[in-house]
Amino acid sequence: MSGIKGKVIVITGASSGIGEAAARLLARHGAHVVLGARRTDKLEAIAGAITAEGGSARYRALDVSKREDMEAFVDFALSTFGRVDVIINNAGVMPLSKLEALKVDEWNRMIDVNIRGVLHGIAAGLPLMKKQGSGQFINLSSIGGHAVSPTAAVYCATKFAVMAISEGLRQEVGGDIRVTVISPGVTESELADSISDPLAKEGMKEFRRISIPAEAIARAIAFAVEQPADVDVSEIIVRPTASP
Ligand code: NDP
Repeated sequence: MSGIKGKVIVITGASSGIGEAAARLLARHGAHVVLGARRTDKLEAIAGAITAEGGSARYRALDVSKREDMEAFVDFALSTFGRVDVIINNAGVMPLSKLEALKVDEWNRMIDVNIRGVLHGIAAGLPLMKKQGSGQFINLSSIGGHAVSPTAAVYCATKFAVMAISEGLRQEVGGDIRVTVISPGVTESELADSISDPLAKEGMKEFRRISIPAEAIARAIAFAVEQPADVDVSEIIVRPTASP
């Protein structure tokens, strides 16, 4: 995977699940990875493990819902490694519930992290990538960005938004900057842990039975990164073979 070696890759939500798996895989292929999330104890352990294996990793506390945090995170990567080749806007939350449960705080949290977080990543990275004349955004949507499922109206809305934002960005910046959407199906991670609604929690059990490992999504991310600069992988959908 020679298209990965030496690249500086910034990953939001790197403290567990898909972000962690991507960090480990990309570092194994020679990328300099910069990990961000709120739980710095987890980031420290993951970056330490990558370094112990001979990889290159740094970490910094990050709340993607705060624009200034995202700016500082990308600046940290830039000042540490001198450039930023890829920003993986991966951080996300999924407290599912029916709309009629009126969990308005949880709706807002999904909007703040899943939509604003991605926009903040773009705001922090776009001027820099334009100046560099190259770069790549990899944004995590979902199969929930293609179809709405019960209890997931707001979550799916945020993932539809990621699709729209990514497509708009690709149309604007094509030529120098690549834009990739990764749309996973149900994948092993901590994502469902934030569900507080009993109905939605029960519904997730069936889905989790067929989940695929986070490494499966990391491999799709690595595929998109390793392509030559003139090849833009616009979207990859990766889902379990089995249906729930
Ligand atoms: P995890 O819950 O394991 O990982 C989510 C990550 O996001 C964690 O590292 C968490 O770290 C971070 N995060 C949450 N809130 C914030 C915040 N405000 N600022 C910074 N980081 C934050 O779930 P996944 O690995 O599954 O999720 C990764 C992405 O994949 C998400 O966008 C999700 O929607 C998407 N996805 C996942 C699917 C699945 O089945 N797992 C299916 C489809 C899409 P911390 O708490 O330390 O901040």
